[in-house]
Amino acid sequence: MNPEIICLGELLVEIMRTEKDVPHRIIGHQYNGPFPSGAPAIYIDTVARMAIPFNFSTGFIGTIGNDEFGEVILEKLRSDHIDVSKIKVNDNCTTGIAFNQYNSDGSRKFIFATGAAGQVSPEDLNEDYFSNVRALHIMGSSLSISKISRNSCYKAIEIAKTINPNVIISFDPNLRPEMLDLNTILDISKPILDNATVLFPSGEEVEMLAGVKGEINACKKLLEKGLNLVVLKQGKEGCTIFSRENINGIKIPGYNAVEIDPTGAGDSFDGAFIVGYLAGWDLKKIGMFANAAGALKVQFFGPMPDTSFEEVIELMKSQK
Ligand code: ATP
Ligand code: MG
Repeated sequence: MNPEIICLGELLVEIMRTEKDVPHRIIGHQYNGPFPSGAPAIYIDTVARMAIPFNFSTGFIGTIGNDEFGEVILEKLRSDHIDVSKIKVNDNCTTGIAFNQYNSDGSRKFIFATGAAGQVSPEDLNEDYFSNVRALHIMGSSLSISKISRNSCYKAIEIAKTINPNVIISFDPNLRPEMLDLNTILDISKPILDNATVLFPSGEEVEMLAGVKGEINACKKLLEKGLNLVVLKQGKEGCTIFSRENINGIKIPGYNAVEIDPTGAGDSFDGAFIVGYLAGWDLKKIGMFANAAGALKVQFFGPMPDTSFEEVIELMKSQK
């Protein structure tokens, strides 16, 4: 099966502190998990659930270890009908693990045991798999996890664009200056930004990429560089969509939600947005749909929810 919507990158299980403000160093305190995770995987899983009414096919290119954590991820992706034939089992490492700790100020602290997560290699990509590609999504985290993972992302873009010059290339630059120095972030993002058609930044990320203070001005600057859409994610405030026709942005308010676990909201938002975009909806409806998918995610404990298309539409109708 050669899917229409493809994503690649790190697959992880997440193990989370059950209570806030408990540092990882505290001995004997509880964690909850494993939960299937990894930003690219959360993206593709959301796409797959939201794409059911449209019959868009989805596939993922990634690497897991030969262990039960890998099975946890595979089972979730398979149950949402994602093609997992390009997920390789690496016998030499464990499946990637992220230990996550929440704090009352909203911050998170991760410890990563990357294992197989960064092992996706350019050799794992073949042109044949991209023969039906309509949308390819790249996560900044897949550029930073390892050099081979980064090169795989660059190669995926090259293949996708050769096969389909109209392919949608979306990029979520989920790279934080506290994780990587600014020049490295700009260097590794450049080949993606030069080819991307849709960008999904948060305020801090877009200011960093544009080198401009003020998120609105930064979005406008990046739009001028050739992107079709810059979609600014604004947490509970929703999003603002900048396009050639709306250079000042269309503000789309968020939905009321009781935040239980914010991890994965941005990735779920990206996935829902691409489905609406491929469905040919107008930008306002796409933004509302993606906001609703993000709002439902934050109410779910664990990075990868089971939310259905119908539940997202229901929230849109109930809070107009
Ligand atoms: P992350 O990278 O941590 O997954 P992000 O910074 O990429 O997140 P956010 O802006 O935090 O993205 O969240 C994405 C979208 O999810 C928002 O644009 C909004 O639509 C929705 N969302 C997030 N938090 C909330 C909230 N507390 N209440 C309602 N909607 C929310
Ligand atoms: Mg993000």
